[in-house]
Amino acid sequence: MIDAHCHVADSSSQAIICPLNWNNGDFKPPEGARALFFGCHPWYVDSYDEEHLRQMLEENPGAGVGEIGLDRLKSKEISARSRVVFSSQLQIAALMKRPVVLHGAKCWGEVVNEAKRYAQAIPAFLFHGFSRSGGLLPDIKALNGFVSIGPALLNDHAVNYRELASKIPLDMLLVESDRTLETAAVTPKVIEVARVLARIRNIDEEKLISILDSNAQRFLGD
Ligand SMILES: [Zn+2]
Repeated sequence: MIDAHCHVADSSSQAIICPLNWNNGDFKPPEGARALFFGCHPWYVDSYDEEHLRQMLEENPGAGVGEIGLDRLKSKEISARSRVVFSSQLQIAALMKRPVVLHGAKCWGEVVNEAKRYAQAIPAFLFHGFSRSGGLLPDIKALNGFVSIGPALLNDHAVNYRELASKIPLDMLLVESDRTLETAAVTPKVIEVARVLARIRNIDEEKLISILDSNAQRFLGD
């Protein structure tokens, strides 16, 4: 099955990988990649190089742009630089017609508003790590947006998150591990997330997995 968002893959899934090290000269495509996304994560905007991003996307016609966005987790204020880097990358995705993986920790409303400016030009959006209540779902749907559910779902006490996961329209749902090199050993596999999701949604597990995989293909434009 397809892991809709991670930074390194595990051996049991095909993954949509946003490598964090593509910017440093000797980049080699990681193993297990179903698709690669290149972008400047909002935590690392000082290192953004617009020309290099364009070049990587030209060299990789199947690649998308991500993970990009805004963040209020590390700091309450969003810097001007963050906003410039985010819109620069959205413009590139729009010009090159690439799907986008979005990050919007503690500022999803602002990220949705920014994405709306590119609603027609960017083919699809993945709202990764999305945990806001369901109020933004109609806007996300209108953007050809997908929402990926992560390992937080495995926590029996995550009542609000489970409620959100039960509400997202089936044709917008994806699952993600958000695995990084540092967390690889302890991150649950997406199959475990899918299993709990199937229980919450009261759907047969195999059926749900085939829906999730076809959603991932639609997100990638296959
Ligand atoms: Zn991530």
